[in-house]
Amino acid sequence: MLVAGNWKMHTDREEAIRLAEAVVAEVGDPGSVQVAVCPPFVNLEVVRQIIEGTPIRLGAQNMHYEEAGAYTGEVSAPMLKSVGCRYVILGHSERRQYFGETDEGVNRKIKRALQYELIPIVCVGETLEERQAGQAAAVVERQVRAALDGVALHSAEALVIAYEPVWAIGTGHTATPEQAQEMHALIRRLLIDRYGEAIGRALHILYGGSVKPGNAADLFAQPDVDGGLIGGASLKAADFAAIVRAA
Ligand code: PGA
Repeated sequence: MLVAGNWKMHTDREEAIRLAEAVVAEVGDPGSVQVAVCPPFVNLEVVRQIIEGTPIRLGAQNMHYEEAGAYTGEVSAPMLKSVGCRYVILGHSERRQYFGETDEGVNRKIKRALQYELIPIVCVGETLEERQAGQAAAVVERQVRAALDGVALHSAEALVIAYEPVWAIGTGHTATPEQAQEMHALIRRLLIDRYGEAIGRALHILYGGSVKPGNAADLFAQPDVDGGLIGGASLKAADFAAIVRAA
């Protein structure tokens, strides 16, 4: 199980310090559950200092697919590695929706992240219109196939998929455990097809979209739900810790 907090564009320096300290205190010893927080770029370093020596790991929310160069405003995989990131969220629906990210760009980012031994948390998920048109499965399948095109994996620890139905993100409308499981099972089949039984079964598939302390346990109880990517609820340490305990 893996529970990752996506802080999005929240927390200035002081808020990040307070939140990271509270997460460390509230989460305590998560046992076998892997836990990560993904603060904004500018607060990675200060959060790293606070979580160092604790079971909490560091992640970023995005990166560029080039290693370096004249790309004003961008951040690269080696930069993230150098400040202690283990994870990087890639292809989040907000990046796709507001910043023009494409399946092809996400695929290039995944390859670069793997080269630097960053674990990509690759986000896929359909919009409400796509679900209502009966295209949810086809959209998710296309996104997974495109993301993993030419991506070799030698270990199930190297990459994470997050199924995040766009209609469930920040809306309070969580997918039902059955809706989540249905899509996770589809993703699981694609992963087994692509990487074989051992790696395909062991890869983590997270659910994301309005996960809260009250619904986390039912979602995590589904056979193919291996944890969660938590937005809003990750900004309250007590809620985030309660979700970790549900995993
Ligand atoms: P939410 O966001 O938990 O606020 O719905 C999840 C996400 O976007 O990763």
